[in-house]
Amino acid sequence: MILWDRVRNHCTWNGGAKQISVDAVIPLFAVPVLAVIAAQNLLCTVLIFVITPLLIYYLHNNFLRFLLRTKFFFMWTITSVLMMMLVFECSVVPLLEILPEENLVFIVCVVGAMCCGYKTRILADQIIQEGNHVQGLELGEGSGELCPNCRRRAPPKAFHCRVCQTCILGREYHCKWLDCCIGSSNLRWYLACLLFSAIAFIYGSNLTMTTVCHPFILIGTVLLPDDCSDVYHEIDIAVCFVSAVYSLLVGLVITCYFIYHLWLIYQGMTSNERRNLGRESHCDDGMLKSVSRLFCCKT
Ligand SMILES: [Zn+2]
Ligand SMILES: [Zn+2]
Repeated sequence: MILWDRVRNHCTWNGGAKQISVDAVIPLFAVPVLAVIAAQNLLCTVLIFVITPLLIYYLHNNFLRFLLRTKFFFMWTITSVLMMMLVFECSVVPLLEILPEENLVFIVCVVGAMCCGYKTRILADQIIQEGNHVQGLELGEGSGELCPNCRRRAPPKAFHCRVCQTCILGREYHCKWLDCCIGSSNLRWYLACLLFSAIAFIYGSNLTMTTVCHPFILIGTVLLPDDCSDVYHEIDIAVCFVSAVYSLLVGLVITCYFIYHLWLIYQGMTSNERRNLGRESHCDDGMLKSVSRLFCCKT
């Protein structure tokens, strides 16, 4: 109830008595329900992991992208992180196979990721609030191209964000899952958030898998899961297993994003510039573009 009130208060911050939007509430129920359904048997697990991305893609394409600022993806992130942490601390740790120092590393990474994500959002909000006074974005004055959307002269590396309704310096993209713009002001924090969360998700997944499945020793104290055939005998073990698979997949996607950003930094360009280059050369990625848009980028 406290969480619910906090969520409601947070969402009604700007609108006074405004009702909490339906799209922001869906993940609060959907994520735990999907986890329990997936924990029934192997077929359910496979089906849920195949259907859920398709369902989110369908929701996004047909409904969510028409809402200018939806909290759906941000709430999905919050619910997923909380659920995976709860499952780990309340179901995996009591099985007494996790060393205290392993748990500590996991908690440090999760807290680190949360702090960096929070800082990323705070910096993005500051840019929007400071609006036209920030970083040389003067109303109609100065050098640089005039932005047709917010009627300001923006420095060469600034791009307009439709969602934030302002020009963002060194804009990468609007990250749906954190619900904020990634630009030069918060890119470092965003990258730190990606790194911490990638480690937390993959490490947490490995710790869970090696606890609920029969592990084998890779090198020294490094274990890998071997035989996971009997995880569906008990529902709480099955939920741990499903949560671990989910963590692993999310961790791998985040790792790809982290490597992609390192590559962009090496190339000396932002992903916004890269997309514009692609548009100029009329290169149409089709499906690939839609999928990458779903995961993070929003023009
Ligand atoms: Zn603009
Ligand atoms: Zn934005």
